[in-house]
Amino acid sequence: MARYTGPVCKLCRREGTKLFLKGSRCLTEKCAVDRRAYAPGQHGQSSGRRRKQSEYAKQLREKQKVKRIYGLTERQFRNIFERVAHEPGVTGENLLIELELRLDNVVHRMGFAPSRQAARQLARHRHVQVNGRTVDIPSYRLRPGDEVRVAPASRELASVQSSLAALSRAAPVSWIAVDTEKATGKITERPTRDAIPTPAQEQLIVELYSK
Ligand code: SF4
Repeated sequence: MARYTGPVCKLCRREGTKLFLKGSRCLTEKCAVDRRAYAPGQHGQSSGRRRKQSEYAKQLREKQKVKRIYGLTERQFRNIFERVAHEPGVTGENLLIELELRLDNVVHRMGFAPSRQAARQLARHRHVQVNGRTVDIPSYRLRPGDEVRVAPASRELASVQSSLAALSRAAPVSWIAVDTEKATGKITERPTRDAIPTPAQEQLIVELYSK
């Protein structure tokens, strides 16, 4: 299935929570979840958030929410799940760790882009380097010790500058160290579940895919 290119605020309203897909706008009073706290579409206001959800519906919504937060297609998300399902440890936690270590997510967490979508574009346009080499694959999997930076020639981009200016307002994550002046960051350790601020009940996703 192709990547969703429609209005992203609809996705937040569908999940009934802020997914922070639009960067700084999500923190303003213009946020659609604050202004219209019901599902999108003709029957959005009447269809029940109040209706009791089945177990399957809860699992499906949780999977959709996490998939949308990281901006993945169903196929990409499923492939990642199938890969981590064979790894030792807790599958749900491994899934989130794998998602966190994607290049687009790390560029966003480092504050070089206001959203994961913007981070993907930054990478695709060859503005991002890993360990000194340009990497234009947003799904590139990073490892502890890797250094990520905005290419020196790209640091004056308006989007990068405004992101870095807003960085002080961003919630830091413990497994990333950022040098704002040099637009450089390093993965200091493998993230643990506690150090991943994504609001997810990953166990529900494991249950869904294990049916
Ligand atoms: Fe979601 Fe941000 Fe749109 Fe609010 S402004 S609905 S958090 S994408």
